[in-house]
Amino acid sequence: MKQLFPCGHRGRGKLCHRCAEEERVKSSAAAQQEAERAQKLAQKRAWEASFAEDPIDLRRLPDRELVLKVREVLEAIARGEDYTRFHGKRLGLDRRLISVPIGQRYRLLLRDDGGALRPLSCLTHEEYNTSLRPGLGS
Ligand SMILES: [Zn+2]
Repeated sequence: MKQLFPCGHRGRGKLCHRCAEEERVKSSAAAQQEAERAQKLAQKRAWEASFAEDPIDLRRLPDRELVLKVREVLEAIARGEDYTRFHGKRLGLDRRLISVPIGQRYRLLLRDDGGALRPLSCLTHEEYNTSLRPGLGS
């Protein structure tokens, strides 16, 4: 026997199955949203934490793509790849210093400590020009 529930639906049993189903869908959507939020937060924290492992501070770089690009170059150079592969060049005023362009605006600066290249910093083109003119590390 079908009966009329207080919600206005008709059906069998003690509860309205249509309303119960709607409720289930709604709460599973909310749970999914919550899970997505938690995942995004975890990804954000992992990204923030990843900077602690960089040999130089890359937090000031404006976007993720640049950070990943610098990391790629740092890892390749640490593996022993030649900086010239990344269009890096030695500075005229201090041949121990090597500048590698990162995108249009940034320069990765390394120092040649007798064969081992030590990352110093990642600067904007402008910072690089002003801070290096007097000769960095002299
Ligand atoms: Zn109902």
